[in-house]
Amino acid sequence: MEDRISTIEKKKSIALVAHDNKKRDLLEWAKFNKELLAEHRIYATGTTGKLLEQELGIQIVKLQSGPLGGDQQIGAKIAEGEIDFLIFFWDPLEPHPHDPDVKALLRIAVVWNIPIACNRATADFIISSPLMSGEYERQLPDYEGYREREIVMTESK
Ligand code: PGA
Repeated sequence: MEDRISTIEKKKSIALVAHDNKKRDLLEWAKFNKELLAEHRIYATGTTGKLLEQELGIQIVKLQSGPLGGDQQIGAKIAEGEIDFLIFFWDPLEPHPHDPDVKALLRIAVVWNIPIACNRATADFIISSPLMSGEYERQLPDYEGYREREIVMTESK
């Protein structure tokens, strides 16, 4: 498969999601990085977004709450090329009713080569990267071979 390039613009579309036990962590992180985040377009799942708006006073595109479809909405936006990177503080110590959605979101971010931070340290490294302040040429896998694959139809039994 041949890679193609998709340019991540200077103004990035960043999705923020945090499970309940991780919301405080994300809010503290976002507050510390408020000025930088304000330069970009911010998306969030419903409750995370509401708390972030209250804390930061910046405009956020709020989607459904995660368990009600918000994680899937973010995944769909990644597949459509609308979201450039994902800060997702998921809780490793608790099962959730929407665990399949969590896995699906992390998977689709890898499929489309989207930077992902799942904890505060990684989020710190990402946000302080020199790549944040300019355009970035993201390698986009060429899935044409996959789309055009031959399907061998077998007789149903
Ligand atoms: P919430 O969803 O921001 O609506 O709490 C987060 C999640 O659990 O995915």
